[in-house]
Parts: sequence; C-alpha cells; structure tokens
Amino acid sequence: MSERKPYVGGNWKMNTDLAGASELARSVADGLATAEGVEAAVFPPFPYLIPVGGMLRDRHSNVKLGAQDLYPEPDGAFTGEVSIAMLQDCGVKTVLVGHSERRHVIGEDEALLARKTSAVLESGLECVLCIGEKLEEREAGQTNAVNERQLRSGLGQVTVEQMARLTVAYEPVWAIGTGKTATPDDAQTAHAHIRGVLADLFGDGVAQAVRIQYGGSVKPHNAHELFSMPDIDGGLIGGAALKAADFVPIVKAAAGAPVSG
Ligand code: PEP
Repeated sequence: MSERKPYVGGNWKMNTDLAGASELARSVADGLATAEGVEAAVFPPFPYLIPVGGMLRDRHSNVKLGAQDLYPEPDGAFTGEVSIAMLQDCGVKTVLVGHSERRHVIGEDEALLARKTSAVLESGLECVLCIGEKLEEREAGQTNAVNERQLRSGLGQVTVEQMARLTVAYEPVWAIGTGKTATPDDAQTAHAHIRGVLADLFGDGVAQAVRIQYGGSVKPHNAHELFSMPDIDGGLIGGAALKAADFVPIVKAAAGAPVSG
C-alpha cells in the first residue's frame, strides 16, 4: 500500500516578463505558504529561472523550481540548447519532458524524448514526462494505445530506482489551452490504463507510487472534481498558472487528498 502526495505544476510556457515572473512567483509562494498535503512546482521560461528561484528562496517557499525543457548532452556545439548542469546551476529541481507543444509544435520525436527523460533522471533531478493523444487519435479510439506507446518509449531507458523521481502528466492534446476538459471519468479511465502500463513495466509497487497528473484546461472550478478521481494525483496547469488567484486555489484543491493504492 502506498500513499501518493498530490502534486500540481504550473507551466508558464513562453509567457511573463522579468518583473511579471518575479511577481507571479512571489504571489504563488505567499498564497501557498501554509498549504499542506500537496507538492507544487512552477516552470518559468529559462531566462527567469534565477530570479524566480531567488524569489521562492526569499519567501522560504516549498514550491519547486522547474524547467520546461533540457538538452540531453553535457556541453558542446548545440546552439540555443540548455544542459542539465546549467539548469542545476540555476537551482532547478524538476524538468518537463515531452510536453505536447514540444512534440507537436517543435517536432521532437520519441527517441529524443526518451534520451531527455533518461538524462534528467540520471542527473538526480526529477522529471515530469508528458503524454497524451490528439483529437483525431481519441476519435479513432486510440487514446490508450497512444498513451501506452508514448509511455513505453519515454521510459524505455529508465530504471526502477529512477522511477522514484518520475511523474507522468496525462495531457490530452485537444484539451490543452482550448477550454475543453476531459470529463473526470474519461480522465480516470486514461489514468488507470497508464498505471496499468507502469505496473507492467516496473511492477505494481512502482505503479502505485508514481504520481499521474492530469493536464488540459484545469481551472479553479473543475480542479476538485478531477483531482478527486482515484488515479488522478494533481495536475499540470498552463493558462491558469499565469495568475496566482487561479493557480493557488487549484493547488489547494489537490491538497489533503492523498490517494491510497
Ligand atoms: C499545459 O500546457 O500543460 C496545459 C495543461 O495548459 P492549459 O492548462 O492551458 O490547458
């Protein structure tokens, strides 16, 4: 029997500016200062990692500093890319891999994402591996198959020990930034299948311990219902993470609801 602490991340994407990022970090840190029973992280753009990290430290916040991406080589001729050691220098504790915008807008393939996931976990950092089906895949009845393929591929080089630092974010692509949310039942069905695949890959103990976040138009008004489902362990939040007045209540909606498996 394992107990999963809910976990909510705020993905700021390519938004904010220097002053706005620091102010958002301050409001999130202060809004969550007394929140218990939940973990939270923010993922600002690369240039604002240091000021946001500084603000979180100044406010004695437990909110983790995350990065939206990384390049899985230690150094060298990779113009425009950012290494894991550079992220660690900035105080980063966790890294997103495979967000749908990296997969489908930037065009990253599954082989690269598997290298990224493995490199992040090898470094000792935490990793949030994002997976999810596109609308046409859902309509063709391929939701579980797509999630399973992305999961098996993304975790192909990951060891059982490293899974202690891995979170899965299930984000149906058609629900990201669209205002359309999966119903709690549909999301639960996908999460249960994902947990089944994790059990097949790493055993039931690991599968029961891994947090699986839901992402896709989570807002203060729908967070509680989604987070109450047995296999939904918090969320990855985009648009609503840009306002502390929305993000803080979403994190609090996940607090105090650990799930036993
Ligand atoms: C995301 O970008 O991970 C996301 C879930 O975005 P939104 O909450 O805006 O749908």
